[in-house]
Amino acid sequence: KRGTADIVVYSGDGISHSQQWLVVQAELRHALERDELVLHYQPKVGLPDGEVTALEALVRWQHPERGLLPPGDFLPAAEHSGLIVPLTEWVLRRALTDRLGWTAAGQSWAVSVNVSVRNLEVAGFPDLVAELLAGTGTPADRLVLEVTETALAGDVDTVERVLARVAALGVGLSVDDFGAGFTSLSHLRGQPVAEIKIDRKFVADVAHDPQSRAIVRSVIELAHALGSRATAEGVETAEVYRWLIEAGCDEAQGYLIGRPVPWPQVDPAMFAVPGA
Ligand code: C2E
Ligand code: CA
Ligand code: CA
Ligand code: CA
Repeated sequence: KRGTADIVVYSGDGISHSQQWLVVQAELRHALERDELVLHYQPKVGLPDGEVTALEALVRWQHPERGLLPPGDFLPAAEHSGLIVPLTEWVLRRALTDRLGWTAAGQSWAVSVNVSVRNLEVAGFPDLVAELLAGTGTPADRLVLEVTETALAGDVDTVERVLARVAALGVGLSVDDFGAGFTSLSHLRGQPVAEIKIDRKFVADVAHDPQSRAIVRSVIELAHALGSRATAEGVETAEVYRWLIEAGCDEAQGYLIGRPVPWPQVDPAMFAVPGA
């Protein structure tokens, strides 16, 4: 529906918008069956020391004809069709399995997984999380689920119940893209919020925009008042990195520190930030 769509597909080949979506959905179903999805990982580091604390799983689709597709190319169709539910389950399973790889290599980094509100509307989701933690022997505090605040608008009762049960397992809850959309921290009220991720729109601008600096400082303060970590995403310059240390931000993530890559390519030695 044009009124609420956040993407528009323009087709020049006579295939209608809805037909294209159906094609993507059918292909995506096959992609899940044929294991064509891959996870890249982007590190988060603690400030000011720059030590890696966690890797965030970011899904890509290794498409047989179109190459490696970013999530923006297929997640909207996955959300639309409900395929996001099995897709996230696949991501969760793979991420916890990949984590066994880096723990075997001597790293205790947590793993962050992005979850859709669709998952939080499934009453059995906490059972799946518990089962996967047990099956992989993962301590609950080594898993963080990132939820976008804008997404916290579904079936509110179920979502809040599911969030509470997941939090009760000891899994960390993270509010993603904070500041970018509607503020609905209210759905997380009563839950321990492990992390608030400050949207990169504000982070990118702290170097030259006093208003962004004021917003980022306030979010850091809010996070601390709630007993949460403040994490800045989209850190691209050493200037911003240094400013965040000064402002008391707890963690940073961004291209300056590392781009998303398959986990064996994550090199903890490359995170020394010059001048920090
Ligand atoms: P996000 O969770 O906010 O992830 C951060 C996005 O910003 C990633 O894009 C990352 O590559 C990009 N990024 C990281 N550092 C920088 C930087 O310094 N500068 C700039 N300009 N960009 C940076 P990506 O991988 O394309 O993911 C886009 C979004 O897709 C994610 O945003 C997340 O909302 C969603 N997504 C990715 N993987 C999954 C998944 O497995 N499940 C769900 N439900 N959503 C996912
Ligand atoms: Ca995220
Ligand atoms: Ca984010
Ligand atoms: Ca985002």
